[in-house]
Amino acid sequence: MSIDITVKYPKMHETWLWFRQRSIQGTCWLLLLWLSMGALHAAPEVDARLEAKLEQYLQLTTHDQKAAAELLQQIAPDITALTPAATKVRFNGYLTSQLSLEKNYPAADQLLQENWQIAEQQQDADIWAEVLADHLQQYWGRGESARAVSYLDTLLQYAAKATQSRVRYYAWNTAARFQSWQGKYELALASYHQAYASIEHDENPRTPFRKMYLKSSIANLHGSLRNYPLAITTIQEGLAESKNNPDLASHVTDFYIQEGYVLVEVGELEAALQSYQQGLVSARNLKDTFSEALLQNNIGDIYLRQRKLDLAASYFEQSLAFGISKQDKPTIALSTFNLGYVQVLQGNYEKGIAQMQAMIKEFGTLGGKADLLAYLLELADAHRFAGKHQDEADVLRQYNQLSSEIFQTDREKQLNQLQEEFSAKEKTKEIAVLTQQNQLKEVQIERQNLQQIVTMLIGVVVVLASCLLFLLYRKVRQANLKLKEANDKLAYQSLRDPLTGLFNRRSLLEHMERRQQSDRRIAAPQLTDGFILLDIDFFKHINDHYGHAAGDAVLVEIAKRLTTLTRTDDMVWRWGGEEFLILLRRVDMTALTNFTQRVLDVIGSSTITFGKQQLQVTASAGFLTYPFAGLDEQTLNWPKALQLADMALYLGKVHGRNRAYGLLGLNQPYQDIAAKLETDLSLAIEQGLVEVVLVEGPAKDLRH
Ligand code: GH3
Ligand code: MG
Ligand code: MG
Repeated sequence: MSIDITVKYPKMHETWLWFRQRSIQGTCWLLLLWLSMGALHAAPEVDARLEAKLEQYLQLTTHDQKAAAELLQQIAPDITALTPAATKVRFNGYLTSQLSLEKNYPAADQLLQENWQIAEQQQDADIWAEVLADHLQQYWGRGESARAVSYLDTLLQYAAKATQSRVRYYAWNTAARFQSWQGKYELALASYHQAYASIEHDENPRTPFRKMYLKSSIANLHGSLRNYPLAITTIQEGLAESKNNPDLASHVTDFYIQEGYVLVEVGELEAALQSYQQGLVSARNLKDTFSEALLQNNIGDIYLRQRKLDLAASYFEQSLAFGISKQDKPTIALSTFNLGYVQVLQGNYEKGIAQMQAMIKEFGTLGGKADLLAYLLELADAHRFAGKHQDEADVLRQYNQLSSEIFQTDREKQLNQLQEEFSAKEKTKEIAVLTQQNQLKEVQIERQNLQQIVTMLIGVVVVLASCLLFLLYRKVRQANLKLKEANDKLAYQSLRDPLTGLFNRRSLLEHMERRQQSDRRIAAPQLTDGFILLDIDFFKHINDHYGHAAGDAVLVEIAKRLTTLTRTDDMVWRWGGEEFLILLRRVDMTALTNFTQRVLDVIGSSTITFGKQQLQVTASAGFLTYPFAGLDEQTLNWPKALQLADMALYLGKVHGRNRAYGLLGLNQPYQDIAAKLETDLSLAIEQGLVEVVLVEGPAKDLRH
């Protein structure tokens, strides 16, 4: 019976093809990932002095755990807030391993968490790779494989991105070991090759050890994949290298053990024996007694297969002696079991079987169930050899039961854990999505509410503003109206005579200017306008006899009578105290004369009542057309025309009042007689320079 306790070979070769297909895809994927990510990342900052010390620690872990732990304690105070994150993470990682060895998991977990936080802060591929590898290794080591597997994919990504050769090596190696444990040999092989490529050109003192370790692992995987020739080639490469380097002497033993195992698998028992013998020499040189004991068992196993029972027994006994001297239970059990088998083969059936069965019990308490399977097969062989087929069948049943148990417990448990892990992850995701959706909904609702409030507020503001605007508008409008009214009133008042309501003298100027403009718009006016200027006769007398109020009443009444007489187009001004001016629009001299007649009549033909008094009033007037006598308005403007009218009125006064004189026309050019006209109208009339017409008022002498 040969058991290689350093190398565990899997029993599930039936899944090999499936792994092979998966691993080809996986390798392509890894290659792509490596190509796309590898070149982009810059190495993180490290503390070279501390890194050298940590390297020293690593070196110590291979042969002096105590010294390694002490060194780590020495380094601890040098790790400060100023230590670069990458170095701190590395230190924490080593301390985590140390704490785990001491089974101080809470402290180890705390460090793992701290490292995770650093990785999240730094977002550096090297740091992530180291932290993820630490996590995977820790949980895997504690038997929490489902948790460990959850780090694998990310670890592979960052392993490809990392730049430091040590970190790449550590990350790939961790992944490879785990993949190998999962039975994903092809993927594990690819990862080991990546690990090898990471350190191939390193000058590090640990590089040769790492290379040998990797070669051994790769050879082991080739064995698992039944690539025996490749396994042998790799082992021989490793042997060649380790033989040349005294530091690698321990690897020489290991490679021989591996070589012997592979050769047994392919049936090359003699060659295997040679390998084991060489391994034995190497182990003895190194005083590596554990390897020696193992090799003695393995050599004994070959002799057993070759039925060289005495030789076999002598090797098992050597191994047993060693086991007893070292109090090493597995070695004792293994050797005793093998010696039991020898007994069976030697015909001491009952003693041998009993010894073997006792040891199977012992193995049950010592180690893994997987190892137990191999011993059960040996026991079944022993029964067969003794012709005890019933017993053989019983043992094989036991074997099958254990095998399926292992399958169920190991594989199904793993699958279940994976499923749970997956479900947990999915649930977490689902919860995260739901929470996000909820938050989103809440935000949406809040936003809708806010929008509603804002819209409402805007509405209120708009309504209020509209009301305010409306009120303001109304007020302004009212104010404007009042202002307009006031202005109108003012304008009215400024143009009107307050006593009679007629236009005042000031308004004439404005009117005449407007008239000129409007007349200009009417091309070649056919008809002239007419001015009648009149003055009440002996008005002073009314004031004197009846009082000023009577005089006012007369003025008001006469204004009223004149207004009634005129058309809408015509205008009446209070020209002075008791003087009025009438402007008739578009009249010829005849019409003007007739109108003047009616003016004198309307004033003089009926009395004016003032209290109990009946007042008889007459007026005298002067009138003319305007433009006058075919003269244009520049030659004889309206002030001059009014001056002529006033002179004609004066003629009326002079010739007895209650009469009017109208100027009909000129008999000589205006320029020639203008001076005479303006100074003495009577003389001008006498000299026949100007033609006049007389209009007499009502034929009553009503003078008081
Ligand atoms: P004549 O026939 O020559 O015109 O004589 P008369 O008395 O009308 O003389 P005159 O035109 O000189 O006198 C006008 C008088 O009118 C003088 C003034 O006291 C008076 N008067 C002027 N304005 C007013 C007024 O608003 N109300 C009153 N009651 N009298 C006024
Ligand atoms: Mg007068
Ligand atoms: Mg008068």
